[in-house]
Formats: sequence, structure tokens, C-alpha cells
Amino acid sequence: MSNHDCAVSHHYRGRFAPSPTGPLHFGSLVSALASYLDAKKQQGSWIIRIEDVDGTRCKPSFSEQITQTLNSYQLFSDEPIRVQSQHIEIYEQQLSELKKQQVVFPCNCTRQSLAQYNGSHPHECQSTRNKPHSWRLKTSSAVYQYQDEIQGTLLFTEDLKNNCPVLKRKDGFFSYQLAVVVDDHLQNISHLVRGADLMDTTAQQLHLYDLFGWTPPNICHIPLITNHSGDKISKQNHAKPIENGHLPTLLRALHYLKIDLEATSSIAEALSLAIEAWDPSKLKGIKDLPLEEQDLHFI
Ligand code: GLU
Repeated sequence: MSNHDCAVSHHYRGRFAPSPTGPLHFGSLVSALASYLDAKKQQGSWIIRIEDVDGTRCKPSFSEQITQTLNSYQLFSDEPIRVQSQHIEIYEQQLSELKKQQVVFPCNCTRQSLAQYNGSHPHECQSTRNKPHSWRLKTSSAVYQYQDEIQGTLLFTEDLKNNCPVLKRKDGFFSYQLAVVVDDHLQNISHLVRGADLMDTTAQQLHLYDLFGWTPPNICHIPLITNHSGDKISKQNHAKPIENGHLPTLLRALHYLKIDLEATSSIAEALSLAIEAWDPSKLKGIKDLPLEEQDLHFI
């Protein structure tokens, strides 16, 4: 069993890595803030990365809009923003590495043929390379455990046994799973602070780190902001874009991170007070935070 405890890093490097499939909504502002506050509390660097490998859903105009919104809340990347679609050759190289290791296989299965497995792909198939194909990661019996500072000890026993995730799609686009691991490693990211919706994919990422022989970052997951039906507020369920540079919105976002500030006069002041007040242990064990009545206008 691989046991990934918090890696002690000499220099904290955190990141916020939005996929530009729509403008920034309230839930993503909360995530951006959590990663920013954690980095700044530890005198670290905070970097923005645009995860636009899915060329069918991501748009450059959304990347611009997201960056502008983050900047309007004084959330500036400490380094030039990395845009994944400009680094495709690196993902290709890393996929070749996995091909050499024979831990990936080509797959021509269709959604229809996988419907019987509820969309997952439970084992290697007899697909041929002569037809358009995706590349999937083979299943593994590896079991992962790691210490999530917020969610506690997470043990993934079944995650890699019954599914072969796609690393490169039939249409040629790379998957989030591969690109996120490669970039976090290349950018020397030491800490991931991200939404609890990504917890389920963590075992696959830890497995990729092992296959590449890389040390994974310290990973923790903040609670998700949910709507009245208990669903994550997301672009898929049409969360509204937030207003740019709006102090009351920032204060409400901080409230969900257990930071309640007295009256503040500016975004800059609120942010510096929030860095002092940030304490991830206040979120311990919380998986989701339903939007409060006064914030329903954000969805
Ligand atoms: N790009 C991912 C998203 O927007 C987040 C990646 C991550 O934080 O690991 O959901």
C-alpha cells in the first residue's frame, strides 16, 4: 500500500487551476481563495494555471474572463499563467512513457458499449489501433492512503481496480487526469487545495505519480458549496458568473471558509486580514456547505 503523508516542502507552491468552460462562479471563487490563502499564510507562491486541454468545452474568452475576475479580487498569479493547450507535446511525451511501461492500452469502445458498466471501463479490451482510439490506463491493485489535512485520512481501496480512465481521448484531446499530474509536477507544486468534488479522482492521480516515479504534492480538499438540492454549484448547473471586484461577494466567499471579517474598506484589506485569519482546521471533516439564504442570488 502506498502511504502518501504530507510531503514537507522547502518552498510552498500552490495553484488554482480552473478549466475555462465558463466564467468564474461563487463556488470557484471560494476554491481560488482557499488555495490563495493557504499559500500566502505560508509565505508561499500562488500560481494560476488554465486547464484547457478539453478543446471541445474550453474557450479562450473564458480564460480571459476568469483571469480578469481573479485579478479584480486582487488574486494575481506570482508567475506567468501556464496554459495547458500550449504544452500538448509534454503530455504526449508522458503518454509515450506510459506506453513504454505497457500500462496503457488503445480503446475503441463507445459510450453505448460501456453503458452496461455505467460508463466506466472495467478491464482491458481487445480494441485495435487501426481505428480511431483513445488511450486508457490499465487497472491496478494499488491501494492508496493519504492524509488530507481537511478531510482526514483518505483510503482508496477500490478506485483503481474497476475502471480504466481515459488519458487521451479518441478525438485527440488529453484528459484532465494526465495533464494535471504532469503540470503539478513540472511546476513544482507542493500543495493542492481544491474542491472536495475532486477527491474521487485522487487515487488515479497518485497512481500516475507512482508510475512516473514522482513525489505527489500535499493534497487537501475544501468543502463544496452546494445548492438547495445538495448539488455542487457548477457551470453544469448554470451557476451565475460573479461580479468583478465586489467586496461584499468576497466577504461572503470568505464566510464559507470560516472567516468572518468586521467591516473592511477594500478588497486588499480584506485579503490581508483573511490571510491572517485562515485556519483550514476550522473546515475539518466538512464535505459540503449549503448556500445560505442570503447567498441564493449567486446561483
Ligand atoms: N481544472 C479542474 C477544474 O476546474 C481543477 C483541477 C484541480 O484543482 O486539480 O475542476
